[in-house]
Amino acid sequence: MIVLGIESTAHTFSVAIVQKSKGLSKTSKATKRAKTKRQLSSIEVLANASDKYASTLEGYIPRKLADHHAEAFPKLLQQALSDSSISLSEIDAIAFSQGSGIGHCLHVGYVAAKTLSTMLKIPLVPVSHSIGHIEIGREFNCETNDPLVVYVSGGNTQILGLDKKNSKYHVYGETSDIGIGNFLDVLGRKLELKPSDAVGVVNAAQLASKYIEMPYTIRGMNLAFSGLLTYIEKKLIPQIETKKFTKEEIAFSSQETAFAMLCEAVERALCHTNKKEILLCGGNARNARLQEMLKEICREHNVHFACTSFEYSGDQAAMIGLTGIKMLESKCLPKYEAPVQRLRTDLTHVCW
Ligand code: MG
Repeated sequence: MIVLGIESTAHTFSVAIVQKSKGLSKTSKATKRAKTKRQLSSIEVLANASDKYASTLEGYIPRKLADHHAEAFPKLLQQALSDSSISLSEIDAIAFSQGSGIGHCLHVGYVAAKTLSTMLKIPLVPVSHSIGHIEIGREFNCETNDPLVVYVSGGNTQILGLDKKNSKYHVYGETSDIGIGNFLDVLGRKLELKPSDAVGVVNAAQLASKYIEMPYTIRGMNLAFSGLLTYIEKKLIPQIETKKFTKEEIAFSSQETAFAMLCEAVERALCHTNKKEILLCGGNARNARLQEMLKEICREHNVHFACTSFEYSGDQAAMIGLTGIKMLESKCLPKYEAPVQRLRTDLTHVCW
């Protein structure tokens, strides 16, 4: 089975071609062509072409993101087909990110996917973006069986576990306002760092030598980041001019505080669920400091730590194609195909 995946929830537009081979995968025609590509158990990513809208000080304007995505689609489609040596006639289904995400961006991906599926007369598979992040993490870390999932990205921060009885993910804890990635991205812009996003914060944090005390908001296993952001903006940033604090100290302390809150919630969820594995996934799984803090918790609790690879942590369409294959094989498809801006992780049936 060959599925073309489309990702378009936020700043990144991506087109991937993913294949699941029957039986001896190494003998199949398409697998031979793609033998240099990385193998994901019996599922292989033959192409994963992406283009990210560059972060600016004005933030992400939905209309501009949609224009970027509409322009990127034909170019990335061509690239994915050429990278995989697959022709459109060989594709069995089109999978796309149904949500959650920014409405304008989701709509571009949906129209692109719907057009291809109508034109080629093949099924259209609406995929939950967050389930895609989890599934690609699980597929890569085949040693994890039933992990506590720590999903950290721009729009999401959730601590989840699979509820096998109901075939759905159960949310043990989550942010009650903005995602941890969004918090770091906005902070990068407020501090006018280069790049003006979470990456700028990570780079600046490495140059700091002093920790500044900050508000710490956690209730049970739930978190909140917007109050912390307001405190930083109103109380700390104005003091950069008087040289009381540096940008680097603020970046370092903000990151430490936000991650400490998340780690406390994760530790509580670990004790509550008694799970023996942690899987870190989502765009902010790339953060080495967060990985280090979670590894320490895992050592203390004798729990296995797994993390999605750098390549597949951020937004990309391989995770959408891969999840699309699992949904088609298990006949686990949603009733509606239209994009859903606030599609929750715990609404998707996971029957595979
Ligand atoms: Mg994401």
